[in-house]
Amino acid sequence: MSSPAADANDLRSPHVALLPSSGAGHITPFLRLAASLLSQNCRVTLITSHPIVTQAESNLISSFLSSFPQVTEKQFHILPLDPASAASSKDPFFLQWESIRRSLHLLSSILSSLSPPLDAMVSDITLISSTITITKPMKIPNYVFFTSSAKMFSLFSYYSVVSESLADSTKISEIKIPGIGAIPRSSIPPLLLVPESLFATMFKSDSDNLRQFDGIIINTFDQLESKTLKALKAGEVAGGLPPLFNVGLIPNDFERKLGFGGEGAEAVSKWLDAQLAKSVVYVSFGSRTALSREQIRELGEGLVKSGYPFVWVMKDKAVDKEDGEKLEGVLGAEMMGEVKEKGIVVKEWVDQVEVLRHNSVGGFVSHCGWNSVVEAAWVGVPVLAWPLHGDQRINGEVVQGSGLGFMGGNWGWSGQVLVKGEEIGRRIKEMMEDEGLRLRAGEIRDEVRKVVGGTGDDGLKQLIQKWRA
Ligand code: UDP
Ligand code: UDP
Ligand code: UDP
Repeated sequence: MSSPAADANDLRSPHVALLPSSGAGHITPFLRLAASLLSQNCRVTLITSHPIVTQAESNLISSFLSSFPQVTEKQFHILPLDPASAASSKDPFFLQWESIRRSLHLLSSILSSLSPPLDAMVSDITLISSTITITKPMKIPNYVFFTSSAKMFSLFSYYSVVSESLADSTKISEIKIPGIGAIPRSSIPPLLLVPESLFATMFKSDSDNLRQFDGIIINTFDQLESKTLKALKAGEVAGGLPPLFNVGLIPNDFERKLGFGGEGAEAVSKWLDAQLAKSVVYVSFGSRTALSREQIRELGEGLVKSGYPFVWVMKDKAVDKEDGEKLEGVLGAEMMGEVKEKGIVVKEWVDQVEVLRHNSVGGFVSHCGWNSVVEAAWVGVPVLAWPLHGDQRINGEVVQGSGLGFMGGNWGWSGQVLVKGEEIGRRIKEMMEDEGLRLRAGEIRDEVRKVVGGTGDDGLKQLIQKWRA
């Protein structure tokens, strides 16, 4: 029997502040973490940084807050863009991360005003060097939420060891990470090979600062990367790291209630209902990756040539508010006609999990943003990996290694290679016709669902237990 003191401890609701950064790929897993914590009787304060870059992020946050009125939102107004950073990067999300980092000294007064006092803070990986300087003097335990794969985390935690030599291609053709194996130079996020880039600068200082944190949270499953998780937890990769908690975060109902599923999203849902089981290819490159016009047209040709019906979510600009061009303007009238005969294409947000879990969907052409990979595993849909930026090739290797899918080919980083329609069509066919792949994806889903979903999730339980203690 447990003691009365232990019972009281079990009932205590720890108060946790969540500090996401920018991009739907960061906001979404934070909000899913918040929903899981609420279901386990935690008190949650959500810190939102303003102005917000995309409409999708604003919509996700509003939908979450209206679904969970018990959450306290603290709006954090960040400093304006720094002209020197703007000169070094055009990426609106990197620039937003940099602005939030530069503003975080202003967060102390918000944190000290919270009642009851915080038991923990969870900080987005892109902000950690700045957030730790605020929470350390306030003695608030701070946890890193790494929003990509455990394999990418292994590179991140090992980065300070190799960063100096990386820039010189004659010195390093691969990085050998203890306990993990070799990551070829061609899979390393390209901006890490440019030491003066904004991304590489942040990555280096953050990697050095990891040891100051109280724990690392990663949204991943043993079914995707058990060997990597084991090596990380055993301390084989890099010494002195804080404890690692792998949590499995599942999609939540607030994502279904989004007010921005416009006409296109509605049409997708109706169209899917009319298709045969497992016959449809779903194509999306996430929330912030736009292909070149030329590549978009090759992709259109590939989809038509594959012979399978498709749902294609097209992005022509990284930031949704700037993506005003009509579909026909992007595709041209002729291709628009061909595409409309075989599939459905939209240029707006769709509820991706809702599409993936539709019985008609049989395959996913994905850039391998980590949330997309986790979602594919959760619903058991095979993936044709087409990584384009950053961590996506490393995530693609996880997809291939776990058997959830395979890499399209030597398709280069974004803009380096024009992948022809013919080849895209062939690879899509391969994915759709591979019965073994479909079975394996289904197995991953079944295995994941045995352990993930709140109460069965050891990582989440251990984390909350630590905060209650
Ligand atoms: N997403 C969505 N609908 C869209 C585009 C994206 O629901 O039209 C979601 C997707 O399900 C995932 C997130 O946005 O949860 C994108 O994150 P990911 O890590 O896959 O890629 P990123 O956008 O960060 O490149
Ligand atoms: N869920 C969601 N959006 C989706 C799919 C799932 O919000 O598109 C949530 C929802 O809360 C659901 C839970 O995830 O109850 C479990 O999802 P699952 O796909 O297992 O739903 P089921 O098929 O059991 O209805
Ligand atoms: N990018 C993207 N999706 C990602 C990460 C980056 O589309 O998940 C794009 C981003 O918008 C930017 C480019 O990749 O245009 C970053 O690469 P570049 O070498 O141009 O860096 P920059 O100097 O613009 O920061």
